Amino acid sequence: MTQPCISVWIPGDQLLPDHPALQAAATLTDRAHIRVLLVESTQRLTKLPYQRKKLVLLLSAMRHYAEELRAAGYTVDYRQAESAGAGLRAHVAAWQPQRLFTMATAEYRGRILQQRLARLLGAPVTVLPNTQFLTGRYNPYPQPRNKVVLEHFYRAQRRYWGLLLDAQGEPLGGAWNFDRENRRPLPRTGLAIPSPLRFAPDALTQQVMKDVASLPNGVGRVDGFDLGVTRQDAEAAFDDFLRHRLANFGPYEDAMSQHSAVLFHSLLSPYMNIGLLDPLTMARRAEQAYHAGQAPLASVEGFIRQIVGWREYIYWQYWQQMPGLLHANGWRHTRPLPGFFWSGATEMKCLHQVIERVITLGYSHHIERLMVICNFCMLAGIDPAAVNAWFLTCYVDAYEWVVTPNVIGMGLNADGGQTATKPYIASANYIHKMSDYCTGCRFNPKVRTGADACPFNVLY
Ligand SMILES: Cc1cc2nc3c(=O)[nH]c(=O)nc-3n(C[C@H](O)[C@H](O)[C@H](O)COP(=O)(O)OP(=O)(O)OC[C@H]3O[C@@H](n4cnc5c(N)ncnc54)[C@H](O)[C@@H]3O)c2cc1C
Ligand code: SF4
Repeated sequence: MTQPCISVWIPGDQLLPDHPALQAAATLTDRAHIRVLLVESTQRLTKLPYQRKKLVLLLSAMRHYAEELRAAGYTVDYRQAESAGAGLRAHVAAWQPQRLFTMATAEYRGRILQQRLARLLGAPVTVLPNTQFLTGRYNPYPQPRNKVVLEHFYRAQRRYWGLLLDAQGEPLGGAWNFDRENRRPLPRTGLAIPSPLRFAPDALTQQVMKDVASLPNGVGRVDGFDLGVTRQDAEAAFDDFLRHRLANFGPYEDAMSQHSAVLFHSLLSPYMNIGLLDPLTMARRAEQAYHAGQAPLASVEGFIRQIVGWREYIYWQYWQQMPGLLHANGWRHTRPLPGFFWSGATEMKCLHQVIERVITLGYSHHIERLMVICNFCMLAGIDPAAVNAWFLTCYVDAYEWVVTPNVIGMGLNADGGQTATKPYIASANYIHKMSDYCTGCRFNPKVRTGADACPFNVLY
């Protein structure tokens, strides 16, 4: 009997090892009859003048993934097309599959396309549920009647997945949350900060760097690209974090420094967001590190809260609030984004340092995103949509499902308080306490009026 020819479309941020669509196709035919489609969509890649290092990461990871699939015996149809839809149409015209499998995208627009796919292609299409997120495997609040807050959401995830629980199902250490122990500034001396693992670009990545450098618009430069681009790289980066930075992750989670962008953070969101690392595996490995005595509970709990708490909660909020979230503007802020956001040319040293870093690396850690950039934008009354677009454009880990609830919901409190119960705003006092930015700044963090007054104080 002839085997049916089945197609599988894998969007570029779903580079999963056992992609559900591949597994579904394998129930109907053998590998030799599965055609895997990956599309580099010009429209998608140039929708905004994206951070060039993000494009290198995404395209190189997609091209490496295609190689991985070929080595595993699949036929890969790797296309550059005007749009995902155009790539899909061309694929179907070329291969005439009897059926196409795909997995629901993390983002709203992708799902709209997937809903219309069968009509667009004139072929049977199966869209499988998204498994990249724990919330896709277990949703604690499928139809919430009351307001859901992070803490409840997080506890439900911990209970369901059995993370950091004792034999009675209660939280290890007698508390769900050790945040109070996790708010230390860096000591002036005596604490070595290990650099995260860097990866030298291989020939394929170097080709991608050339391709991206030739794009007319973009933030930053491709030079100095040193992120991993394969699952093995991402796992090595995770191991490096567990070994060298997890133990101090908790206490210095909120600290900021002009000497180090990453400090004790993991720098793993770029990999997680394209499917190279699995959140549950990461949480379990962090838990094992605690049981092996490699890191204290406050650090491990803090890290697990980010992964199974905040990250999942943010994804959940995105799907609760879309598509309205994109235009939410609860405080009716309308000021344009200042021009220095594209250059870092401001006398405010904290903003200068963080923005320059974002332009160069595509990265700043959470507190800098929240308490420097968004704090300023909230206090200055900047239009939330403009801030959202800036984050989407500039960061290596930026995707709409994660940027929009974090910026419009958490950072700017513009969603009517659905994501965060209160606005995250602070005067210079907070930045002065948690960072070394104020040293040498032209403004004085302790002054509230007059020419030397820190703008954060004046606006606050
Ligand atoms: C205004 C604003 C914009 C943000 N934009 C992005 C973005 O574009 N992409 C992105 O992945 N995260 C974003 N975040 C969340 C968080 O700041 C980043 O995930 C984190 O800084 C990434 O660095 P890291 O991997 O070193 O994180 P770590 O501090 O090491 O944390 C570990 C992991 O926890 C997860 N995490 C922690 N907090 C959040 C959160 N609030 N939302 C989602 N995941 C979280 C991430 O996967 C992260 O890798 C944003 C937060 C704010 C306040
Ligand atoms: S003094 Fe104000 S503007 Fe300058 S670094 Fe400190 S908080 Fe930022």
